[in-house]
Amino acid sequence: AAASEQADLPLREVKPEDYTFALFPEYKRLKQTEQTLMITGLPNPYFTVHEGLTRDTTRIDGRDLISFASYNYLGMSGDPEVTRASTEAVERFGTSVSASRLVSGNKTIHGELEREIADWVGVEASVVFVGGHSTNETTIGHLVGPGDLILHDALSHNSIIQGALLSGARRRPFEHNDFEALDRALTEVRGQYRRVLVVIEGVYSMDGDFPDLPKFVEIKQRHKCLLMVDEAHSIGTMGATGRGMAEHFGVDPKSVDIWMGTLSKSFGSCGGYIAGCAELVEYLQYTAPGFVYSVGLPPASTAAALASLRVLKAEPQRVARLKERSNQFVREAQAHGLNTGQSCGTPVVPVITGNSLLALKLSHALFEAGINVQPILYPAVEEAAARLRFFITSEHTEQQIHDTVEEVAKQYVAVGGKLLQPAHAPQ
Ligand code: PMP
Repeated sequence: AAASEQADLPLREVKPEDYTFALFPEYKRLKQTEQTLMITGLPNPYFTVHEGLTRDTTRIDGRDLISFASYNYLGMSGDPEVTRASTEAVERFGTSVSASRLVSGNKTIHGELEREIADWVGVEASVVFVGGHSTNETTIGHLVGPGDLILHDALSHNSIIQGALLSGARRRPFEHNDFEALDRALTEVRGQYRRVLVVIEGVYSMDGDFPDLPKFVEIKQRHKCLLMVDEAHSIGTMGATGRGMAEHFGVDPKSVDIWMGTLSKSFGSCGGYIAGCAELVEYLQYTAPGFVYSVGLPPASTAAALASLRVLKAEPQRVARLKERSNQFVREAQAHGLNTGQSCGTPVVPVITGNSLLALKLSHALFEAGINVQPILYPAVEEAAARLRFFITSEHTEQQIHDTVEEVAKQYVAVGGKLLQPAHAPQ
């Protein structure tokens, strides 16, 4: 059969761009983007080299800058208690678990972490994976397949899209945060698919906005489908004590089928988790490729996440402080006439410049003035939505936030930006 198939195919001449990376059209496109960046005369803003810990400040090229470019929302990376627990775990368990947990077994701290995450989220069980991205990819890729449908928010994170593509299920985005559009889509497809999986996020990392979770839960219950919520940016940051979107809205955590979160942000570590009912977790532990065929979460990361969770439980004031700082940033930025888009008390605050060049120039000017913040350029967002994105942490002081906003407003005008009509008089 192989021979006749080959005979039927028209022969294609093999070209150098098929086997030389430097000639790949995809690689050439990347170089073109780089070239466009170079024409501006500004340094490449990506892969900056940091010489130490990044919390409220970071050291680059021997200079200490106020930093808004890491997800260390609660300052757990660098917290003495978290560092101590992580170091002790390396000494006790080593630097790797050296195989899949299915075959090499669990370390005591794996079970402790999974138990405490489940209790924190308010569901029966949880399982941790080595990466946040791979948590989504393997879970979504594995739970649904051909004959199923995934309905996801149009601004979903890449890991959700990749999981959907991997699954082989049909994929349909609905308009950002638009639960009515989801309701309509579910009505339209009723009875046509085996499983329907709806995927939304807690806090969206580009705009810092969030969905009306109770509405999504009501729709999911009415249409009898599965609901998954990615809490990468909301666990530890939302709700009075940091339990995430269920706490924020007073929703029963068990009314969401699949809670996903990362350990890399509020939990000062690396990896991701899925939390839900015991059957879901057991099924993933025995069958999800990204868990079964991948090494277990390393001791240092497991212990760091566990210690972070315990610090968070003992110090809920970190969550309150984070909210205060974030609200202060938005309030003062708006008073200056900066455009903070949809941001609303979450740790992600965009300052929309409206074009990529302006975002790049502003980020560079702020860098020179001692503030580290990343520009988000086209094609990551639409050109008119180009922005700087500030990640606030509980470790930023009121003074740092105040000084930063003053500097952003000053530099924005200096690089040619136009301020909006101030919302309130500057304080
Ligand atoms: N989901 C969302 C919404 C994210 O923003 C990210 C990354 N920031 C991930 C998943 C992947 O997490 P990680 O970086 O820990 O792999």
